[in-house]
Amino acid sequence: MIEPGEALEIVLRKTPRLEAIAVPLAEADGAVLAEAVAADADLPPFDKSAMDGFAVRAEDLARLPAELVVVESLPAGTAPARRVERGTCARIMTGAPVPTGADAVVRVEHTEPLAAGPVGLACRDRRGGRVHILRSDLPQRNICVRGEDVRQGETVLQIGRLLGPAAIGLLASVGREQVRIVRRPTVAVLATGDELVPVSAVPGPGQIRDANSWSLLACLGRAGARAERLGVARDTEDDLRGKIARGMKRDVLLVSGGVSAGDWDLVPKVLGSLGVEIHFAAIRMKPGKPTLFGTHGRGLVFGLPGNPVSTLVAFHLFVRPALWKMMGRADAAPPTVTATLAAETLVRGDRKAFVPAVLQREGETWAAEPIETRGSADLVGFSRADALVALEPGLHPAGTRVEAYPF
Ligand code: AMP
Ligand code: MG
Repeated sequence: MIEPGEALEIVLRKTPRLEAIAVPLAEADGAVLAEAVAADADLPPFDKSAMDGFAVRAEDLARLPAELVVVESLPAGTAPARRVERGTCARIMTGAPVPTGADAVVRVEHTEPLAAGPVGLACRDRRGGRVHILRSDLPQRNICVRGEDVRQGETVLQIGRLLGPAAIGLLASVGREQVRIVRRPTVAVLATGDELVPVSAVPGPGQIRDANSWSLLACLGRAGARAERLGVARDTEDDLRGKIARGMKRDVLLVSGGVSAGDWDLVPKVLGSLGVEIHFAAIRMKPGKPTLFGTHGRGLVFGLPGNPVSTLVAFHLFVRPALWKMMGRADAAPPTVTATLAAETLVRGDRKAFVPAVLQREGETWAAEPIETRGSADLVGFSRADALVALEPGLHPAGTRVEAYPF
């Protein structure tokens, strides 16, 4: 048996980073950028109005109120046709190019239309009207100046950046339909057990529904991996060998169940016969003790304990870190926060416990309220948890500072 920290170290050491590939922008969220990206043009690409209002010459606002002739109206997306000369202005909408001659925008709230025709919020056919400028924002000009965000050719995203919604928007802004990222791992999920029936079935005597295939699929989706469900293998060497061999064609194979010491727990034996080198098969932790990790070439195999809670705990502590390392993420290890234990907790036995808990903000810190569960099969209790609290064996009084792993 090895310590959980050592197990994570082994997993990360044996896990390769995957190669770079080009993907369409729509598939880039949550991936790590494998190239530096430069702006293909200045951003913004032209001087644009930051307000709905009137493009004016600041010199005309020396005395307020000022009366100006409106020479044209500029919705976003139009190119100005007229120069703004002294004593004139252009009606302008947010995002429209500022016409030459103008050097400031006065917001519409600081203006009032004059008799020759209303200059309301509609922006068509207002030429020849007059407007009263009541106030200005000067010296603020309400213009986003061409290139003020970034200049053409400058790097906007560095290699290694984790892509999120803002970065995706930025990639779109600089014209990237495709982008090079570190490839996401393909992951096969295999549930094992003679007692397992599909979700759609009504379990007969001694049977239960396969929960782990589905909870693991959800975990994989969130982690950003490409999941494939292989279904359920019976507890026979033949069925296991065929399905495990299929799963070994993927970057990662997750096998749930069949890894503890029961008479029908054949997974380690079958993995060995298929050439998987097993690096550990037991961790000093609860739940999750019979967690197995092996490699074959660049492929990984995790044997996860069949109990639904154990499977999820082992996924969070060991599998997701491996997937994120493959995806090139620098933050592969599961994040922790320091929290205050909200209730006295006893950990029996000699294994480190990962206790399901609810985290709540309490002033400057987090309070971790352990959840009563009926053990590692109790998905009812565990489904309320949003974190694990790591506790060594012994009695931990309320108020103890603990390490928590938020999901
Ligand atoms: P095992 O690791 O195969 O010894 O299974 C441990 C416990 O987890 C047994 O009670 C199994 O019935 C249960 N179990 C195994 N696989 C699943 C699964 N896919 N969904 C729900 N429970 C499971
Ligand atoms: Mg089993």
